[in-house]
Amino acid sequence: MAQAWTLASRPNGTPTHDNFALIDVASPALEPGQIRIANHWLSVDPYMRGRMNDVKSYTPPFVLGEPMQGGAVGEITESAAEGFAVGDLVLHMAGWRDEAVIPASQAQRVPALGVDPQAFLGQLGMPGMTAYFGLLEVASAKPGDVVFVSAAAGAVGSTVVQIAKAKGMTVIGSAGGADKCAWVSSLGADAVIDYKDGTPLIKQLAAVAPNGIDVYFDNVGGEHLDAALGLANERARFAICGMIEMYNTGAPTELRFAARIIGARIRIQGFIVSDYMSRAGEFYNEMGGWLQSGQLVREETIHEGLASMPDAFLGLFSGGNKGKMLVRV
Ligand code: NDP
Repeated sequence: MAQAWTLASRPNGTPTHDNFALIDVASPALEPGQIRIANHWLSVDPYMRGRMNDVKSYTPPFVLGEPMQGGAVGEITESAAEGFAVGDLVLHMAGWRDEAVIPASQAQRVPALGVDPQAFLGQLGMPGMTAYFGLLEVASAKPGDVVFVSAAAGAVGSTVVQIAKAKGMTVIGSAGGADKCAWVSSLGADAVIDYKDGTPLIKQLAAVAPNGIDVYFDNVGGEHLDAALGLANERARFAICGMIEMYNTGAPTELRFAARIIGARIRIQGFIVSDYMSRAGEFYNEMGGWLQSGQLVREETIHEGLASMPDAFLGLFSGGNKGKMLVRV
């Protein structure tokens, strides 16, 4: 019998283990065009918190009692689909479970770039694409820019740091705790702020960005966004990628420096990574090359076993990961 995680109840505030339940699911015979996949790697991502709320959004809410979805990499164990063979590694969205039965049209063969397959859930997958297009397209970041990025030790943030350095930018990261900050420095960041050290962020940012910032890559929102507004140079560009600080609280953010958007002509643009899916080839070319040459460091925090999915997911909100948070099944 296959197993899957379901949302047992919708969280109010920070999710707890009670919001999740591990259920048995049927393992049906394949219909024409379907494949059976043994999942090896499961992704947990902050956007999943939004899917736990019963609200209209760019992705539909998880359905209570049904298997949850998420990025996964697995191996085909049975195929009724032309062109897909037993043993092929595929990337798909039927995660949060050990076995998936899906139409082959909903799976993508893992590209043969000579890197570990789980990289396609991280730096070579959705978070990597988010970093790449968010920085270079949404924020129009260019060599010489001073870039500030929050959650810089996470999957998206640590990739932003490295792409920005590869492209000749000055990078300031922020992360929680000395250990994470040291790691972000080791990736090449020119300065790193520990936002948990008790000093107001605006003070810390002003100290390391005496000439202001040209780009802000926002993963956090709240005080980070406010400090970036306070230090933004004229015609600075903000890529609003995520606001994890408010995913559990929904609390409004006080932006004391919001009026600077006007005088400094700041361009603020939100985006969803799927806007750039049609340009995946471009992304694989440049990122694949950097990864193969060793120019990009890939870091993963791995939880073991399907049972650990809720722990891995909840860890995203308490800083439990360096690089990409993954579960190995
Ligand atoms: P991460 O790997 O960065 O994990 C989340 C990290 O956020 C934690 O490790 C923690 O790091 C930090 N964090 C958690 N809570 C807070 C808080 N209250 N204040 C400050 N930092 C906090 O996740 P991802 O790289 O996958 O995602 C990063 C952001 O990008 C998220 O906001 C996500 O929603 C967004 N995103 C947006 C996409 C889009 O298409 N727009 C696509 C993918 C991601 P620390 O220990 O440093 O606090």
